Amino acid sequence: MVFRPEILKVKDQRMKPFIDSDELWGYLNSAPATPAKVRAIIAKSLEKNRLTLAETAMLISATDPDLIEEIKQGARALKEKVYGQRIVLFAPLYIGNLCTNNCSYCGFKVTNKKVKRVTLDHDDLIAQVRALENSGHKRLILVYGEHPLYDAHFIAESVKTVYAVKSGPGEIRRVNINAAPMDIDGFRIIKDAKIGTYQIFQETYHQETYAKVHPSGQKRNFDWRLTGLDRAQEAGIDDVGIGALFGLYDWRFEVLALVRHTNHFEACYNVGPHTISFPRIQHASELNVDKSHLVSDAEFTRLVAILRLAVPYTGLILTARESAAIRDEIMQFGVSQIDGGTNIEMGGYSKSPDKENEGQDIDFEQFQINDNRSLNEIMDDLIEHKYIPSFCTACYRLGRTGEHFMEFSVPGFIKRFCQPNALMTMVEYLEDYAPAETREKGYQLIREKIDEIEDEAFKIKLTEKIDQIKNGQRDLYF
Ligand code: SAM
Ligand code: SF4
Repeated sequence: MVFRPEILKVKDQRMKPFIDSDELWGYLNSAPATPAKVRAIIAKSLEKNRLTLAETAMLISATDPDLIEEIKQGARALKEKVYGQRIVLFAPLYIGNLCTNNCSYCGFKVTNKKVKRVTLDHDDLIAQVRALENSGHKRLILVYGEHPLYDAHFIAESVKTVYAVKSGPGEIRRVNINAAPMDIDGFRIIKDAKIGTYQIFQETYHQETYAKVHPSGQKRNFDWRLTGLDRAQEAGIDDVGIGALFGLYDWRFEVLALVRHTNHFEACYNVGPHTISFPRIQHASELNVDKSHLVSDAEFTRLVAILRLAVPYTGLILTARESAAIRDEIMQFGVSQIDGGTNIEMGGYSKSPDKENEGQDIDFEQFQINDNRSLNEIMDDLIEHKYIPSFCTACYRLGRTGEHFMEFSVPGFIKRFCQPNALMTMVEYLEDYAPAETREKGYQLIREKIDEIEDEAFKIKLTEKIDQIKNGQRDLYF
């Protein structure tokens, strides 16, 4: 196969498969990294420019420990320069684990008879959302297996139910979706329910591996999944999240393919994905994968740093699949969103551990998570490390879509909007949900951040808004 140059801006690429593994390997195999080239690429990224496939491949091919360290430092500098210290918090909520697919890595695969199949009914869903609101969450991602029951209408109904639940001062302000790809009409129905991001992971962009790990079911169709988010865009959902499940195939290929997917959206729809996720395979009931591509901690850190530099304006999500120690380590290289207080057991947020089924050979989770800290424990940890935990949903609710793009393209946007809004959502949390110790540490950090503001008039405006929140007003933002 010919080694093609970078794809041009062409609308006729829409809805067409765009992964050419020979092209990607071509880049990976023709990019001997030299210190000078790697440094020039890092500098380009620090100027907030997305990297090309060739440049990303060059960073991937750097194996010298000093150069790898420079890449990591570059990613850290970019995060600080661009995103500041904000970390957005969310929680996943599993709605149903019926599934007709047979993904070899997933505990919910149709052939796994050990897993207890549950679909939350209306009351169960409300109980889950109340529990999440009562812990302080404002942003959720709803997760579904792939099953005819979970069609667009079902998903839209669950989104509407979630938005309608108000528990005390609690409310969910943004509902994202992780579910199977659908047709354009289906995506339109879901868009009308006012979803935030629609997330679909390709799992692996390598077709042969994809066929091996998806032996049956609708998900077996690589192209249908690959073009899923194109159909979302055609239906008007321009806020989409992509991802790869690391450990199925060579991580270097998957990183480059994620950048290729980003190029595809930019070329066809003038907007990149809102987020990129990079789950690593975790233990799961009946897990059955070839272990030769499992990704070590060192490789994982490297790949996150490379992704940060390659797509400076795309949000990066790191989930509780990873341990607290790994999350603390990796966050500094450019992660912008994490989940907190995560429980992926069906119905797990509102009930105590299942006594009824104790001791029986029944599984409840899709895979094992490794960070079981409560939301407040995560808040404590973030505050201690001087991160600003954020529950902000302002851009999305004001119709400022493409928020990450704005952060980049509008000078001063982060200082004027993102950081103050993050601080205000933090005040809401401290007032409504935090124990005294967290409140004290939290307000100390807020004072430090306000002191750093140079514009005196703005400082007064923000302080006034914070006082209004302390006096009972909610949902204020710039
Ligand atoms: N059923 C939908 C689908 O497949 O797109 C919803 C997604 S699934 C519930 C969420 C994601 O979890 C999958 O896309 C996959 O990347 C990830 N996942 C599945 N098994 C996993 C495992 N053993 N370890 C880590 N992540 C896993
Ligand atoms: Fe089903 Fe999704 Fe699990 Fe595959 S990853 S078995 S589609 S829930």
